[in-house]
Amino acid sequence: MRKLLPFALLLGAAIPASAGSQERLPVIDVHMHAPSSPGRVEDFQPELHSWITMMDNLNVRLSVLSGVPDILFAWHQETGDRVIPSLLFPCENGVSFNWGRPCFEDGGDWPDIDRLREDIEAGRIRALGEMGPQYLGLSPSDEAFEPYFALAEEYDLPVFIHMGPGPPFSAYEENPFDVRSPNYRAAAGNPLLLEEVLLRHPRVRVVVLHAGWPLADEMVLMLYQHPQLYAEVGLLQWTDIFPRDEYYSFLRRLVRAGFADRILFGSDTMLEEGIDAILEADFLTDEQKAGILCKNAAELLRLGEEICR
Ligand SMILES: [Zn+2]
Repeated sequence: MRKLLPFALLLGAAIPASAGSQERLPVIDVHMHAPSSPGRVEDFQPELHSWITMMDNLNVRLSVLSGVPDILFAWHQETGDRVIPSLLFPCENGVSFNWGRPCFEDGGDWPDIDRLREDIEAGRIRALGEMGPQYLGLSPSDEAFEPYFALAEEYDLPVFIHMGPGPPFSAYEENPFDVRSPNYRAAAGNPLLLEEVLLRHPRVRVVVLHAGWPLADEMVLMLYQHPQLYAEVGLLQWTDIFPRDEYYSFLRRLVRAGFADRILFGSDTMLEEGIDAILEADFLTDEQKAGILCKNAAELLRLGEEICR
């Protein structure tokens, strides 16, 4: 399983001789990761270039790029306005979840608020997430996140929160990822746990990454109750873990409930597989596919529809 972990797929993915990106539907990827493994930033240049080529070939117009500061800032500098840089946190024992890249200069697990404010004002950070409270067994409404939601509200930043599936057997030794997550709790991935923080900060746009799988009923109920909430489907395209029927019946449940216009595409580094899974879903109309792949994200990010033409 290890060699098939998502980021490895990015590294090894073949780029098809493209028929030309203009023939493909435009895409906004709201869930891309800068490398989260340890290592010198410059050593990841090949990954950066293969990702840029893949964005070109697959007609990806914009990506929300999540990472810890050093590599996030470096990759943003090289990609400019094709990327919305987004800060990944909290960390655990000073390193990022799953992969172990050291996070902050002070060695802590949480971003310093004054420093974060500077980075936001300088345009180095334009979104918050992937936030992973579940990796620490925390609810997203835990007071530890309160200063960050307050900042998101003050600067009108979208917030991206991991809810639902982490690695299989996350809290056990059997967890196949480089860094174990003994504090991971399934129960902390219930979308209902967002309710208090959403009500405290009703103007903050919040995206549930992985859509809280498999809790479709809870996700539907939260979309029904909270207009500022979106669901993103990254990771669910990974057929090693999620049988395609399971992904589709989960996605269909959200669509059937009437929320196709608040479902977002995210690759979680598996770009081509993720796009193809949406394109091949025969229960989606062409309009719904275009919405999920691009227009809904343009709306969330307040970019106007131009970017999706
Ligand atoms: Zn995640």
